[in-house]
Amino acid sequence: MRYYSTRNKNRSFSFSEAALAGLAPEGGLFIPEHIPAYRGAVKNSLGSMSFLEIARETIAPYVEGEISLPVLEEICAGAFSFNAPLIQIRSGVSGPPLVLELFHGPTAAFKDFGARFMARTFSWLRRGEDRPLHILAATSGDTGGAVADGFYGVEGISVTVLYPRGRVSGLQERQIAGLGGNISALAVEGSFDDCQALVKAAFRDGVLREKLILSSANSINISRLIPQGIYYAAAAGKALTGRWDPDGEATPRNLNGKVSRSPPPWSGDPLSGGPRPVTFCVPSGNFGNLTAGLYAMAMGAPIAGFIAATNINKTVPDYLESGEYKIRPSRATISNAMDVGAPSNFERMAAHWNYRELQGMIRGISATDEETRSAIAGVYRDYGYYLDPHGAVGWTAVQKFAAGNRNAGSFMPGSAVVLATAHPAKFAETVEALTGPVPVPGSIQKTLERHPRARAIPAELSVLRDFLLEGP
Ligand SMILES: *Cc1c(COP(=O)(O)O)cnc(C)c1O
Repeated sequence: MRYYSTRNKNRSFSFSEAALAGLAPEGGLFIPEHIPAYRGAVKNSLGSMSFLEIARETIAPYVEGEISLPVLEEICAGAFSFNAPLIQIRSGVSGPPLVLELFHGPTAAFKDFGARFMARTFSWLRRGEDRPLHILAATSGDTGGAVADGFYGVEGISVTVLYPRGRVSGLQERQIAGLGGNISALAVEGSFDDCQALVKAAFRDGVLREKLILSSANSINISRLIPQGIYYAAAAGKALTGRWDPDGEATPRNLNGKVSRSPPPWSGDPLSGGPRPVTFCVPSGNFGNLTAGLYAMAMGAPIAGFIAATNINKTVPDYLESGEYKIRPSRATISNAMDVGAPSNFERMAAHWNYRELQGMIRGISATDEETRSAIAGVYRDYGYYLDPHGAVGWTAVQKFAAGNRNAGSFMPGSAVVLATAHPAKFAETVEALTGPVPVPGSIQKTLERHPRARAIPAELSVLRDFLLEGP
């Protein structure tokens, strides 16, 4: 597979070049020359294949000729050592949203899928090199932790994470800045957009480019995006065949007899005559996750469409409604991993699909903090299930879409699947005020015991440059 920059179709790159560079030379994002299709036999059996089988089938065409199948399988087995259960949080009622829990990895957010795959892939691509690779990652909260964890201790690679000072949770800060070793943390005076702009500026900086081998680990990196398609294909296959996961796979919940314990038989819309492709509701910020879903749909996974759920940073929902793309400064919310006013993956979406095509596949819905809080409280009250603020934005968007849209059925013919992008214990400050104590998984417990050590810097390229050249 060859890759192009969204800003220059004249020069193509290999997967390794695109992955290791992160950002294309003139500031564009790498995209594959075409989106491959699942083989027919794969498309028809996604519901019964294992996660690792789907991983191999999803990623192989993107790395063909560069990473052999056995190596790819080994990378995937190491990266995806946790599950992504598709669960129904109540039974017996028609049209309940299903929840795809993407927070069972080590940093308790979906970004573990992309970051762990990327770290293992980089390590393999760089085998035998002696100059170190320097990775820069801007984060609004969760990317930093996932990238730090994925690369921690990987030889020949050092990582610098930039996060907006005071705008991430205590746990996120410990995930980003509590490891040390080959992971450095910079607390930037400014917003996530400032962090992202700094990283982009560093990539364009002549001095840094001459002295260091730089790479990025944001969701702009194509090697993070591609593996995120796996869970869409796996969940779409399961939903289509009515095989969602037993409740025991899922955490956390307060059972109280309110929640089904075993997967019920298909209980979708009785008029539909059976299972239909699902609509995924994707809590979105930088739109990497949603773009990965679009790739999975284009590859042939049985997906009807997407709801792009945002908080009040609703640049993309506004675009989908008006056709005008207007970036704006980000505003702080309780779903802070989605506080993005200039979503970087939009450029990638727009390079593959025009406005009409995007409108045909995606509906945008936004939720306020008040609506998000009310969803967390209501879902807990009614079902004993804990949503994190990001998943709660998704939950709200599905309810609003179904309630406010008479044509919902034609866009959302099968069930809606809400992506639960983070574990509620990751945002305990917000969630517990509405639900009482949230059970804390072991991985988070251990992280809470770390001490964050970050350097505070102003949002200035010269300061970042000095830090990178001199080391911590
Ligand atoms: C990063 C993140 C998002 C947003 O994902 P994008 O790919 O940036 O759109 C949503 N929820 C959580 C918990 C996240 O960490």
